[in-house]
Amino acid sequence: MIATEIQENAARYLMNTYARLPLTLERGQGCLVYDAEGREYLDCVAGIAVNILGHAHPDIVEAITRQARQLIHTSNLFFTEPQTQLAERLVTHSFADKVFFCNSGAEANEAAIKLARRYAQKAFGPERHEILTMLNSFHGRTLASLTATGQPALQEGFGPLVPGFRYVPFNNLEALEANLSPQTAAIMLEPIQAEGGVVVPNGDYLKNLRKLCTDRQILLIFDEIQTGMGRTGTLFAYEQFGIQPDIMTLAKGLGGGVPIGACLATGTVATAFEPGTHASTFGGNPLACAAALKVLDLLLDGGKLEQGRLAGEYLGKGLATLSKQLSCIRESRGMGLLQGLELTIDGKPLVMECLERRVIINCTIGRVLRFVPPFIISNTQIDRLLNVLSDVLSKRQ
Ligand SMILES: *Cc1c(COP(=O)(O)O)cnc(C)c1O
Repeated sequence: MIATEIQENAARYLMNTYARLPLTLERGQGCLVYDAEGREYLDCVAGIAVNILGHAHPDIVEAITRQARQLIHTSNLFFTEPQTQLAERLVTHSFADKVFFCNSGAEANEAAIKLARRYAQKAFGPERHEILTMLNSFHGRTLASLTATGQPALQEGFGPLVPGFRYVPFNNLEALEANLSPQTAAIMLEPIQAEGGVVVPNGDYLKNLRKLCTDRQILLIFDEIQTGMGRTGTLFAYEQFGIQPDIMTLAKGLGGGVPIGACLATGTVATAFEPGTHASTFGGNPLACAAALKVLDLLLDGGKLEQGRLAGEYLGKGLATLSKQLSCIRESRGMGLLQGLELTIDGKPLVMECLERRVIINCTIGRVLRFVPPFIISNTQIDRLLNVLSDVLSKRQ
């Protein structure tokens, strides 16, 4: 079927939830993707921070293929080795003691919200149920994760939302303290606001937040769905701030492209879940877990975490240089391979202009160009991105 026909059929048969780019992709290899006509594109969005080891990584393909031949799905009525192994690996390399597996980021956050409520209510009583989240945050599209998402525009028309949420501005400890009450069970946030425009926490904000949570026996939930799995240069972003959350959610990069989510917690908090309190039919299935195990192997033993960290430094420097040269860039910011350029102009048309030059980038909140390429992106490929950016942005001076 030709690309235009696919796009016409999409309009005919799919619910109209996405404003897609006019591009039909057929295959990918490393940091490159190809359309039906064989045109090649440099992929700096990578499935929205999902394909952290690029497309069609041979070791991941092999791990998926081998597991598919052996056992794809069993449900959680039974034990399977990949699920237990993956949990062990995540626990060994994080603050957490226990893991619950699901299939997406929103689901991981649902698990975190349920766990936090149940823990707080068991420990302190039923009035302790409120969760504070940040304005301009993004936690997903299911009803509770959408409620947690501090963006009224995304919530419009879906009310009534889930009760018991309250929003405060990011990077503002005073505002947060002013909104605490005996009802506060947890504070939930992204260590770096990704969809909200790559907003990095300043100074000791997260450290002070951790201290406040500890002092008041409030749970700290980190949504590391986008920042986790090496995206910022360490396996998890919290490592870079010298603190640990009580609960952390993962998805996106975890399966290297295969859908999987996880909610991790300390042993004490995790006791709030008992048999029958939470579940997922597909969660932790052997296929997704085999893929995630291979991703962790490649990151930790295969040097890919370090490769991503170095690529992040190179990209960060290049974007900082661009930002000094071009007045339509207000600021370059980010950590590792989660980088953003805040513009003084509308960013959306620039995504299309980059696409015409065969480079795929993304724009959040209308004026922040976001770059989340695979960790295996080469300096030559980063240069190609920087050249195209320089080209399209120079025209807007
Ligand atoms: C993408 C994302 C989510 C939602 O994940 P889905 O898999 O789309 O449900 C939640 N939180 C953050 C920080 C994300 O980047």
